[in-house]
Amino acid sequence: MSSSSCFSSIYQKKKKKKETPKKEMARSISYINGSQLLSLKRRPNIAIVDVRDDERTYDAHIAGSLHYPSSTFSNKISDLAQNVKGKDTLVFHCALSQVRGPSCARRFADYLSEMKEAVDIKNVLILERGFNGWEASGRPVCRCTENPCKNEIP
Ligand SMILES: [Zn+2]
Repeated sequence: MSSSSCFSSIYQKKKKKKETPKKEMARSISYINGSQLLSLKRRPNIAIVDVRDDERTYDAHIAGSLHYPSSTFSNKISDLAQNVKGKDTLVFHCALSQVRGPSCARRFADYLSEMKEAVDIKNVLILERGFNGWEASGRPVCRCTENPCKNEIP
């Protein structure tokens, strides 16, 4: 019979009216792949953040990337925010971008939404398959010892 549908339509009406707007929108984090990063890299407003730990010293890295090891990431987070002033897009990665990369990206996004001052960062992204995937697909890598790396992706 119709009693239950009547109830649900009342319920729906009520629910529709009471949409409480969220005060602080949680920043969403999305993934990009290597070729998307290559085309993004042509713009000056992007920073790549490598959160691998010791691997960076014996593996190569993506040219132009900053190094913020995941082990000390939380302590350096305000330093990172200073360092990327003026950038609008941050791309995080670790070796595989499965654990450290996403968790540091999340921490940074949370940090941004807690900050009261205005920030320029609009996009927090994670590089799919991390540095290993980048290197495995034959993309250019850099072996300098600078941090931040001063080289550019060719
Ligand atoms: Zn380099």
